[in-house]
Amino acid sequence: MKTAVRNITCANCGKVFEARVKLSSFSRDFGLDGKPDNPGFLPFIFDCPDCGYAGYKIEGAKPVIPEDYVIDRNNPYDAYERALILADSDDVKNHLLMEYSWKLEFDGKAEEAKKVRERAVSQMELSLMKRPIIELIFVYIDFLRQLERFDEAEAAVDTISPVVTADADKKPRFYKRFIYLQKLIKDRDAAPHMISEV
Ligand SMILES: [Zn+2]
Repeated sequence: MKTAVRNITCANCGKVFEARVKLSSFSRDFGLDGKPDNPGFLPFIFDCPDCGYAGYKIEGAKPVIPEDYVIDRNNPYDAYERALILADSDDVKNHLLMEYSWKLEFDGKAEEAKKVRERAVSQMELSLMKRPIIELIFVYIDFLRQLERFDEAEAAVDTISPVVTADADKKPRFYKRFIYLQKLIKDRDAAPHMISEV
């Protein structure tokens, strides 16, 4: 993953501030749930220091900020909560909650991270009901596994198993990861695991 510091112009208030931006998402290794292997990569949301407009994209069109948009500068994770209020798609909400839980884990806040992982699972379920994307189901299963919700993880494995198995030749790496994930669930292993182990 490549990053750089550049100036961001807040679309809400016009404030210009420096922030780290992601230039490329490529990473040699990451968790089975997509978690980056380096805490320095997080967070990737922008948080305007003046007006508190937060999100993955805060440049461009002026946003509609709700009246009850509360900014809590005492909470170091508040930008995630604010970005979630403003998020306009399931994809963004899914990713915000994933990133939020990873950030808490990197910061050693295991209990808080678990709660956010639970929120991420609920959000992914809503999203998957509307649009069942196989890659997201894979992440969803790994979130369930890390939450020790093994029975649900197994049920979800069964739903995608025929598709993943049928595509094994076309997507061999994905298939191998899937088999590995299945084994971890069977072993009741809730620890984080990296794709390099597969
Ligand atoms: Zn602003």
